[in-house]
Amino acid sequence: MFCSNCGSNSIQEKKPDGDTHFRKVCSACDNIIYENPKVVVGSVCTYENKFLMCKRAIDPQKGLWTLPAGYLENNESVEEGAIREAYEEAYAKIKINSLLAIYSLKHVEQVQILFHSKLVDLNIKPGIESLEVGLFEWNEIHWDSIAFPSVVWALNNFKERQNLDTFKVYKNPI
Ligand SMILES: [Zn+2]
Repeated sequence: MFCSNCGSNSIQEKKPDGDTHFRKVCSACDNIIYENPKVVVGSVCTYENKFLMCKRAIDPQKGLWTLPAGYLENNESVEEGAIREAYEEAYAKIKINSLLAIYSLKHVEQVQILFHSKLVDLNIKPGIESLEVGLFEWNEIHWDSIAFPSVVWALNNFKERQNLDTFKVYKNPI
């Protein structure tokens, strides 16, 4: 690893004065190299009662199914990132509906922010990171070939919320 400030490769682990964590610190210029979780953004994208799923063309988990999601870029809002990912992976035009869930994946140093989005039209096709894309009813989802645990969490969180909304309608009759 090289110092991003001076280019030196003399990096040591130490706890800077007043800090709570050990950090990578450049011995040459005292620059502290902060390491923080990456932000992943994506969405459970629905069209009527169907869910947009993408079969991964790249590792990790090539050949398995996922939601349109990926790393947030600099100078991009989380909503813009989710919209971009859906287009990159499935040429899908989506509208963000609501925030669905936030997951702290400490073991992989990620924060995942998942929205519920709605597919604007049916013109979808695989982007460069997808082998195949499709719209699946709940029971048609390839549950035995899902790429990441958070995909299952997000789909289930959507289902829970949907049921909650149904309940609310009954609870507040006009
Ligand atoms: Zn340095």
